[in-house]
Amino acid sequence: MHEVSLVESLLDQLDGLRDRTAGRPTATAVCLVRVRVGAGSGVEPTLFRTAYEACRGAREYTAAKLELVLEPERWVCPLCQSSVGAEGPLDCADCDAARVLRAGAGIFLDRVEMEVPDV
Ligand SMILES: [Zn+2]
Repeated sequence: MHEVSLVESLLDQLDGLRDRTAGRPTATAVCLVRVRVGAGSGVEPTLFRTAYEACRGAREYTAAKLELVLEPERWVCPLCQSSVGAEGPLDCADCDAARVLRAGAGIFLDRVEMEVPDV
């Protein structure tokens, strides 16, 4: 399943963050992970969440809640940078240039919150 490998690479990123803070008296556990999912990314948010729930225990992220933020596709004209409607014509009305996808094509780790122990 496509979503499982995406979740695994997300957890790899979290491992990297955790390693960087290791040994410091901060950040004991990740408590929240926010991921932006582009409408054009081909990722199914429900499957992504299911994969996350299945993987996080084995990777010691049981305390980390997953927040998914859906990001709509944003198409722009490559010449004048004005936005070209996702539903409308595929070319810019002014420049006659084919639109390009500027946002909403991928999946990004947006925010990570870590628990700081009481001192
Ligand atoms: Zn244009």
